Amino acid sequence: MRDTDVLVIGGGPAGSTAAALLARRGHRVAVIEKARHPRFHIGESLLPANLPLFERLGVADEVRAIGMQKWGAEFVSSWDGRQQEFRFSEAWDKSMPFAYQVRRSEFDQILIRNAARAGAEVFEGTRVCAVDLGDGASPVQVQVQREDGGSESWRARFLVDASGRDTFLANRLQCKRRNRRHNSAAIFGHFGGAQRNAGEREGHITIYWFDHGWFWFIPLSDGATSVGAVVWPYYLKSRTRPVNDFLLDTIALCPPLAERLSAARLLGEAEATGNYSYRCTRSYGDNFLLLGDAYAFIDPVFSSGVMLAMKSAFAGCDAIEACLRAPSRARAALREFDRLTRHGPKQFSWFIYRVTTPTMREMFMRPRNTLRMKEALLSLLAGDIYGSTPIWRSLRAFKLVYGLLSMLHPRRSARARRLRRLNIRPAASGPMPAG
Ligand SMILES: Cc1cc2nc3c(=O)[nH]c(=O)nc-3n(C[C@H](O)[C@H](O)[C@H](O)COP(=O)(O)OP(=O)(O)OC[C@H]3O[C@@H](n4cnc5c(N)ncnc54)[C@H](O)[C@@H]3O)c2cc1C
Repeated sequence: MRDTDVLVIGGGPAGSTAAALLARRGHRVAVIEKARHPRFHIGESLLPANLPLFERLGVADEVRAIGMQKWGAEFVSSWDGRQQEFRFSEAWDKSMPFAYQVRRSEFDQILIRNAARAGAEVFEGTRVCAVDLGDGASPVQVQVQREDGGSESWRARFLVDASGRDTFLANRLQCKRRNRRHNSAAIFGHFGGAQRNAGEREGHITIYWFDHGWFWFIPLSDGATSVGAVVWPYYLKSRTRPVNDFLLDTIALCPPLAERLSAARLLGEAEATGNYSYRCTRSYGDNFLLLGDAYAFIDPVFSSGVMLAMKSAFAGCDAIEACLRAPSRARAALREFDRLTRHGPKQFSWFIYRVTTPTMREMFMRPRNTLRMKEALLSLLAGDIYGSTPIWRSLRAFKLVYGLLSMLHPRRSARARRLRRLNIRPAASGPMPAG
């Protein structure tokens, strides 16, 4: 039986961030990661709000060395080719003008090595396979299995589940709920020879709307470009050809993107992933908490996943500190962690549910800064939603204008609502809708 203060399941951005912070505060920390870094992971576009977190973690220089600077985002309509650029420098707080696009294998490796440098014990190629949380007062018991077939038992005062979309603990606690208001799937790959923007716009992420969802175009610093389609489940279900061909067929449905990829070739195999929007009914217990995707996963259209995962790790460490060293403050600290963990997915979700509607497309294509609405929207897109930037009144105005515009076009809005209801239903439950 091995012993530690905090056992972390998973060495992705959430787990590695939590492990580094806790080890630095003097706790004994063990990170159990089933893969070996560097390993592939999707999710390459970061937000400006990530940068202060890198500084606090002490990895800012390493991330800068591997990252492609991302100064903004472009939204393109595949129906008429219209496009709109958003620059983070125009956000409410002008001090966070850029972010990075990163290859996740390199980025995640930086974070887990940083955790080891900070003093955490890191075990790769080792999978957590069973957990007994006990009664909350006794230590957590954890069974792990190594690649070589060997197994070990661990005892920990506190358990952190950062197992990503595997949702290790939520599956066992049966507290994971499919998001009934959203449902999508994704197909993606890396391309060589894609047409890049010039100058500072080279690192922009481009989002292309098309009939079955939207595409991302993410330029990486080594010349490769990550291209993926987030589509309604019925569309992925309609696949009859191999994944590589299906991705290329799908790209052909979006002429402005197809043009940028006309001289490009797929590097390696494309991948597809199924329905993936969920949230857990709880984010903590007396001796455990859920971080990042292990708690919730929202649609990646605003590139928020890594930022939310790291932010939940920072908040989680304060709560764990209280649980282990100041039990009288534990309950309040866990509640504060819960509040912060719910805040991010909630703020992005309002926009995610509407981003493919004609009204929202119109507002993105012709952004107005009346009542500082555009600056507030850009701050949200930058991930600046936790601090003191006073964006909330302007975001409420934005939502009000959205409502008024929807009412001005009742038939279009009713049709969009109907179509969306059809689009988000689980793939098995009916034929593909038109349009
Ligand atoms: C199609 C798609 C596109 C995306 N695009 C973006 C984007 O552009 N920008 C962005 O910010 N986010 C994006 N995301 C989301 C982003 O990938 C995640 O939000 C982010 O990786 C969450 O970090 P995490 O640490 O919570 O989980 P993960 O990064 O998934 O890390 C979890 C780790 O736990 C390990 N693990 C799992 N189970 C066990 C176990 N039983 N024992 C031991 N180890 C285990 C895994 O091997 C993994 O290393 C995207 C996601 C998808 C699906």
